[in-house]
Amino acid sequence: MVENTVRPILLDLTLEQLGAALKQAGQPAYRAKQVYHWLHRRGVIDPAAMTDLPAALRTALAEQFTTWPLLLKATQVSRDGSVKFGWLTPAGAPVEAVLMPGFNYGSAVCVSSQSGCSLGCGFCQTGRLGLREQLSAGMILAQLYLAEAHHGAAVDRLVLMGMGEPLLNLGAVRRVVEMLTAAEGRDWSPRRITVSTVGLVKPLVTLAREFPRVNLALSLHFTTAEKRQRHMPRAEADPERLAEVLHFYRLINGGKITLEYALMDGLNDRERDARRLARFARLAGLDEENELVREANEAPEPARLQPLPLHVNLIAYNPVPAAREYQPSPESRVNEFATLLKDSGIPVTVRHSRGTDISAACGQLGTELGNGEAV
Ligand code: SF4
Repeated sequence: MVENTVRPILLDLTLEQLGAALKQAGQPAYRAKQVYHWLHRRGVIDPAAMTDLPAALRTALAEQFTTWPLLLKATQVSRDGSVKFGWLTPAGAPVEAVLMPGFNYGSAVCVSSQSGCSLGCGFCQTGRLGLREQLSAGMILAQLYLAEAHHGAAVDRLVLMGMGEPLLNLGAVRRVVEMLTAAEGRDWSPRRITVSTVGLVKPLVTLAREFPRVNLALSLHFTTAEKRQRHMPRAEADPERLAEVLHFYRLINGGKITLEYALMDGLNDRERDARRLARFARLAGLDEENELVREANEAPEPARLQPLPLHVNLIAYNPVPAAREYQPSPESRVNEFATLLKDSGIPVTVRHSRGTDISAACGQLGTELGNGEAV
């Protein structure tokens, strides 16, 4: 049964809000931390499993709150070990996440920040859904905790790179970061969290100022304003403007920045594209009179950040059924492109799509769930 949406989502509550709610129910003050630790340290979302709470409190939590904000509809396990989850929110909107074990640093979960997306990038399956629902912080965290429960172990990193544009749901993203980095929560370093964006200047400035040391992944994909406009119509088109805001992010925020570049056959995989990308990764030729550039250059201790080129993650585009005009570049071209970047002094990683044997492209499983198709 999908739970009643009127009840607040337990995972959404801050420690203070939880304390106030439990105080009102006549519980001693220490219970709030106890419940909060179960939720956010251990990732246990079912009150019935919070074994050191009195039975009456467990029942009361289950009755007064929505404790299970996502209903599992599908799980797909890939040959490479990654696992894709498809859930529905209480309002019936699809949500998907991918658990990716086996990185050299451990495991990561890639979660959705929105159900669907309003930005309509041409190559993206999620964009075809339109925006179905803004996810709350609790719904975003539930993806991590439920993936961990499946995995049977804590996960090392959270990547907000699933369905949706995180910068268009910044309030929920802020709370997720606060809860994961709080001493009473996971006590994570912000460096374990990566926020991905297609590039929206105003919220990027907010992110830079207010989310110190959170990693940023910019989905660049195209290096000319004309192509970004054509294929990513609602993202910032102007590469110069993006370079300014990345420079600002690097110096003001201190978080690591990577450039994500999906190679699409004949669209962005030529030598001239590699040369433009190399120039972009060096953030070369910034207008020193630009407001953001000036403020960044005047930041305290800018010298601690070396002006190295940004790291580029290259991946062959993962094709989706609804956008057949976009096809992946052949492997030989991916390697040539990587070599051109390396020869220009740009640090590059060639990534391989995880879970190519399952509906792994962002939005693919969600589309099937969102259309009510059997999975
Ligand atoms: S690529 Fe990202 S921003 Fe663009 S439509 Fe897809 S989910 Fe939205």
